[in-house]
Amino acid sequence: MKVAGIDPEEAWAAVLRRDRAFDGRFVTGVLSTGIYCRPSCATRHPRRENVRFFDCGADAREAGLRPCLRCLPDDVSREGKAVGKAIEAIKCAASVPTLADLARLTDYSPSHFQRMFKRSTGLSPAEYARALRRERAGEALSGGDSVTGAIYEAGYGAASRFYEDNKGRMGMAPSAWKNGGRGVSIRWAVVETTLGPMLVAATDKGVCRLSFNEGEEHLRARFPQAELVPGGAEFAGLLDKVVAAVEQPGSGGADVPLDVQGTAFQEKVWQELRRIPPGETRSYAEIAAAVGNPGAVRAAGSANGANNVAVLIPCHRVVRSDGTLGGYAYGLDIKRELLARERD
Ligand SMILES: [Zn+2]
Repeated sequence: MKVAGIDPEEAWAAVLRRDRAFDGRFVTGVLSTGIYCRPSCATRHPRRENVRFFDCGADAREAGLRPCLRCLPDDVSREGKAVGKAIEAIKCAASVPTLADLARLTDYSPSHFQRMFKRSTGLSPAEYARALRRERAGEALSGGDSVTGAIYEAGYGAASRFYEDNKGRMGMAPSAWKNGGRGVSIRWAVVETTLGPMLVAATDKGVCRLSFNEGEEHLRARFPQAELVPGGAEFAGLLDKVVAAVEQPGSGGADVPLDVQGTAFQEKVWQELRRIPPGETRSYAEIAAAVGNPGAVRAAGSANGANNVAVLIPCHRVVRSDGTLGGYAYGLDIKRELLARERD
């Protein structure tokens, strides 16, 4: 039976991934503990057979359940409205509203508002405003507008701010990757290295994929709409640099341009990975804390796994809190070897 138009299996899957997008659409009743939660609740998942889904908190209370004190499921709609109102204000304002402005607007204290906004969007209001401007600038640019026109349209006060915000940012205009790389030309090659066959692929902006034991079909699956062009003289110089960075990790590679696109959170994690000095490691929890979201250990792990450019974005420098290696997309032998080379 569907609840709030959602199939129970879909609802359960949303609970398992703690999907915030489903908060407010149904609540998860846990018959064994007598409480109900929002789908994204951070507590340990109940067993499936003890779960019953309800349209809303009132229905769950009628069935004798109490609201969870950790995720406060009954506050979702009030919070959702407040966050929506704040997003509206950020989008429409000529200059970015202050945290105090937004808190006043939504009737919360600034610190409570900041926490709630972050829980709901994954970003602080200031980060959200920056991401929004960046996105608008990216979209306007890919539409063929002039750079300064795009900057002013996106709400930047001065052109210099645009370059500051984008400095050190890895990636291309968001809309290009959204369409599976349509209109983008990608040069690629597979080279033999001491770590095995390595695939390197790059757009004219930078390296968009570095992986091991992959071929054209893997690249095609990642960028289905892009034009894939093997090798080429222009590409050879970049390829040499990348191979050197892999064969002597830590020796270079920091100046190799990258062209990757993720969510704002993923990009923060990737930036943070590039700050880990060669020869050192960090735990997922340390990365989550370093990007200002200590609760997002699991999300930091997935962002690490979503990294398209191995070695140059050194996801191999992230290990488990107990010091064991954890996982690696291309096998633990390669991870171990990369770390050993960096320590020497
Ligand atoms: Zn809960």
